[in-house]
Amino acid sequence: MKEDIRSLAFEELNSEIVNLGFPSFRSKQIYSWIQEKCVSSFDEMTNVPLNIREILSQKYEFRGCKINTKLVSKIDGTVKYLFELYDGEYVESVVMKYKYGYSICVSSQVGCKMGCTFCASAIGGFVRNLAAGEILSEVFAAQKDLGVKINHLVLMGTGEPLDNYDNVMRFIELLTDEKGQNLSIRHISLSTCGIVPKIYDLADKKLGLTLSVSLHAPNNEIRSKSMPVNSKYDIDELLTACRYYAETTGRRISFEYAMIKGLNDSDEAAKELASRLKGILCHVNLIPVNKVTERNYEKSTLDRQKRFIDILQSVGITATVRRTLGSDINASCGQLRASKRKAVVK
Ligand code: SAH
Repeated sequence: MKEDIRSLAFEELNSEIVNLGFPSFRSKQIYSWIQEKCVSSFDEMTNVPLNIREILSQKYEFRGCKINTKLVSKIDGTVKYLFELYDGEYVESVVMKYKYGYSICVSSQVGCKMGCTFCASAIGGFVRNLAAGEILSEVFAAQKDLGVKINHLVLMGTGEPLDNYDNVMRFIELLTDEKGQNLSIRHISLSTCGIVPKIYDLADKKLGLTLSVSLHAPNNEIRSKSMPVNSKYDIDELLTACRYYAETTGRRISFEYAMIKGLNDSDEAAKELASRLKGILCHVNLIPVNKVTERNYEKSTLDRQKRFIDILQSVGITATVRRTLGSDINASCGQLRASKRKAVVK
């Protein structure tokens, strides 16, 4: 099978070109076509001699994203894509417009192994990892379709980025490369359900991205009910790793907390959360749980959300409720792909 050319680091592409007997400046041209100008075929590399393009195309291909479905929110312009991959699988990406520019939420895997009970991405289980170039192509395809430059990125779509660690790290390197899109690492957030050893690895890289941790519970009893990963890495191990991350990188951790009526939204839960997080450089992002057709969780009331914020803030922990965008197009992850799968299965 051919390899994905978009996944190649510059040095790898360069040694390939030089080994084939071509001058090194060709690597710069080719890399720029792929990573800066975001082409999706060898034909578009008009200043590269045909024989080089032909040789490369025998070994490499562009594993891109084809738009299968595009939904645009009438409320706030949020755009949701269902992309088809080279092997017929699907992933979702969402582009949001903010005052500071465009932000994309990308998927890192087809499906997910983690099995969080409130999450639509878990339905149907795990299929495969995305290659670095495939994650890049989510960004490139959206930019091309919208005719805009995307300058913020969150790894919060389908999949667990730290369960596809090597490809995700390579993706981040490629996207932030100054010879390519040159996206600022400060504009990237990575969200994890808590793969503890990889949080240490990431901390030691001192990358400057924002780490979001999907906590969703103040203790093991509640967390284990909805997040199977908690039986492997429990809340104390997770928070110890988070403390290490914040201390090593100097970056504030963002804890995600989906508020589910009757499950994790009591005053006691807020107090326990506050005492556990005390002393960690962090912010708490409260998310009223999104309705997923296959699940019957309900959002916490506005009053509960406010109580949570008050209790956390009383011990000096900043907390906000995340604004919902694209509510009319089911913009939260996994739902479009899940409905596509259902349609296929029928
Ligand atoms: N696997 C990673 C990233 C993907 S999910 C992670 O777990 O962090 C992105 C965020 O959406 C996570 O915080 C996840 O817990 C949250 N999420 C999933 N389903 C949700 C739902 N129905 N309502 C609110 N948040 C949800």
